[in-house]
Amino acid sequence: MTVNLLDYDREGLTRFLTEMGEKPFRAKQLLKWMHQSGSADISAMSDLSKALRDKLAKHAGIELPRVLRDHVAADGTRKWLLSVGDNNGIESVFIPEADRGTLCVSSQVGCALACAFCSTGKQGFNRNLTVAEIIGQLWLANRMLGAGDGDALHALSPGQDRQSERRVTNVVMMGMGEPLANFENVVTALNLMLDDHAYGLSRRRVTVSTSGLIPALDRLRERCPVALAVSLHAPNDALRDELVPINKKYPLSELMAACRRYLSAAPRDFITFEYVMLDGVNDSIAHAAELVELVQDVPCKFNLIPFNAFPNSGFKRSSAETIRIFRDVLMQAGLVTTVRRTRGDDIAAACGQLAGQVRDKTRRTMNACADGNVMEATR
Ligand code: SAH
Ligand code: SF4
Repeated sequence: MTVNLLDYDREGLTRFLTEMGEKPFRAKQLLKWMHQSGSADISAMSDLSKALRDKLAKHAGIELPRVLRDHVAADGTRKWLLSVGDNNGIESVFIPEADRGTLCVSSQVGCALACAFCSTGKQGFNRNLTVAEIIGQLWLANRMLGAGDGDALHALSPGQDRQSERRVTNVVMMGMGEPLANFENVVTALNLMLDDHAYGLSRRRVTVSTSGLIPALDRLRERCPVALAVSLHAPNDALRDELVPINKKYPLSELMAACRRYLSAAPRDFITFEYVMLDGVNDSIAHAAELVELVQDVPCKFNLIPFNAFPNSGFKRSSAETIRIFRDVLMQAGLVTTVRRTRGDDIAAACGQLAGQVRDKTRRTMNACADGNVMEATR
């Protein structure tokens, strides 16, 4: 197979088809088959002429990551280990709630940014995921959750709501990897998530979480503003330098300014700040008070994440009492603050626990990263 059709958003698919001498509107038909009907079989796409199907089959294919493992936790959280070839594995997690279903999607095999408390970061970096591997996680989740079941769904009469068949209503780019370090592929995958001919999610229901790659954050604002979560984890540069090493390159004052810029185009009128609660490290009342100062000019909400342990992490989770006191300090200052419920801990599906399988090539792929400077800063 020369081309994987899942690598294209509408624009890319239109270009590919017109280069083949086909009409641009075929792109919409193909998108609907692949992403709404969940079809991976070109020969079954019955409203395309036989000649076009043959031509497509000759030049292209539809290739998805392979599901290696499928775990369901006691609370209904579901985690898939997916093979992306070459002994690399990534994980995606589905979190069902009463009013929504959220899929946590990975963007890289491993991560180069090496945050001190993150299991993915401890594994090193291997490579960026392709668009097909990113959007394939959503494709597979819908399929595995019993929706988007190929040709059956496509047979719905016109006007019937395919969305109601979907189980995934929200996507968070909070799985393995730093999404903004794989910028182009992530933006193309986001385009597909938002496209009415593909997944049709609203910008408010798609969240990118970043440790704070400022130039890429500015580009995201221009190219594809979606809801934004920023991993803060510390109220001052000295501590953040240790916990989130990319802070040495993009310190807090610049990050706060970038957050304010982002809000000018964002679909929501606040930034979500994530803050992992590490016992005795960043969880004192003084830290909370410093945090209030730091974010005073940024409309925001806080999401406190109780640290999720993994072997040899070297950190402990703050006590429930400490987390409550910390939250109260933020709330009293008028900052809306939630504490993330730990989901799927019996299957290691919680934030920062995703391990997948990474053949660490960090040192050999220094130049392969989307942002060479980032790699340099984290060496
Ligand atoms: N690279 C991106 C997105 C993936 S991580 C980022 O860093 O934002 C998603 C969230 O989980 C981030 O806020 C991250 O800091 C947090 N996290 C990482 N390891 C964790 C752990 N062991 N326990 C709790 N949260 C963790
Ligand atoms: Fe990478 Fe995010 Fe983990 Fe940091 S927290 S190492 S940026 S995945």
